[in-house]
Amino acid sequence: MLYKEFKGDKLSQLGYGLMRLPVTETGAIDEAETTKLVEYALECGVNYFDTAYPYHGGNSEIVIGNILKNHPRDSFFLADKFPGHIICDDHTPAPIFEEQLQKCQVDYFDYYLLHNVTECSLDTYLDPKWGIMDYFIEQKKQGRIRHLGFSTHGEIPTIKKFLERYGEHLEFCQLQINYVDWTLQQSKEKYDLVRSNGLGVWVMEPVRGGRLVKLDPKQEARLKERHPEYSQADWCFRFVQELPDVYMTLSGMTTMMQMVSNVSIYNSFVPLTLEDKAVLASVAVDLTSQGPQCTACRYCVDKCPMGIDIPRIMELYRDLLFALSPTIGMRIDAMPEGSRPADCIQCGNCSTMCPQDLDIPFVMKDFAERLSKTKSWAQVSKERLEANKKVIRP
Ligand code: SF4
Ligand code: SF4
Repeated sequence: MLYKEFKGDKLSQLGYGLMRLPVTETGAIDEAETTKLVEYALECGVNYFDTAYPYHGGNSEIVIGNILKNHPRDSFFLADKFPGHIICDDHTPAPIFEEQLQKCQVDYFDYYLLHNVTECSLDTYLDPKWGIMDYFIEQKKQGRIRHLGFSTHGEIPTIKKFLERYGEHLEFCQLQINYVDWTLQQSKEKYDLVRSNGLGVWVMEPVRGGRLVKLDPKQEARLKERHPEYSQADWCFRFVQELPDVYMTLSGMTTMMQMVSNVSIYNSFVPLTLEDKAVLASVAVDLTSQGPQCTACRYCVDKCPMGIDIPRIMELYRDLLFALSPTIGMRIDAMPEGSRPADCIQCGNCSTMCPQDLDIPFVMKDFAERLSKTKSWAQVSKERLEANKKVIRP
């Protein structure tokens, strides 16, 4: 297993993300199977486990607590997160934090994150009424948190604002990084921003929720031609292994096959060559070439009576065509009411201005229709909170 030292901790570079654990037919976590996976990970030297309040309706914390209590407390690093991104009426941190410690059956967390600082949750995290950061800074002083950080799917200005306010207290940041989002979601700029603020980088979604190990045969053939011995997962992990300020890469492994494969990738570091990177970049371009190729000239923007940020919607639409994820809905929810794709009145003013001749009204309509088939972030939050309330406490 490859390790990296972070502030005195010898971290396995592969961490176990506990969001996609195996489940039974009823949807409950399959504890026996999860135990096998965790034990195998520990045997192979994986020593970092990452859970969160909403994972598996609050049960991920309980299950990992039940498994890890059988191991010496100093033989693993446990990470958990404060759910300030969930839409609800009360963000008082103390009851949640105490509940998390109890569920995980520990006295302290090695790593603790403010979960998903985004345009939707920034105000909550900054609001003095809740005192969230002050509370966690105090918990760190008391030794109940060893390292404090945050995760984010937010935009660069949001991350900057949060770092300006609290950067001096933060040690690490968890970002969505993979070879497609490096450009599609500006992960490169986010990575540079975070490291320039002196924080360690944690990687989430290195295979984009599995999307990057389901390439079409032509894309896969391009990678196989370059390295017949590499799996699609090899390419994903080798891409993030390269980044010098990445200390931790999380993978939400559901099956033993995934676990065995990922552990074996993390037994060696084989740098990508320039030619390898060029092939990966070409596959990334191929994967995101669907949809409008907006150049962000903004000629259309002043013409929109609804004040829709059209180039931003175009960018998100390409992301949505690549793979629909809840974070897209979250970003749309963060836009001003009345200026979202569903608010488009199909006047066509924008298209007359577009030098790329893009059918902007169609994009707005299609975007709204696709989003309407998924749950809003407010609905997801409500369901997660309800599920957490039903959890049987240890
Ligand atoms: S068609 Fe829609 S996006 Fe375009 S200008 Fe009219 S309201 Fe705005
Ligand atoms: S005018 Fe066309 S290319 Fe320019 S920002 Fe608007 S949609 Fe994009």
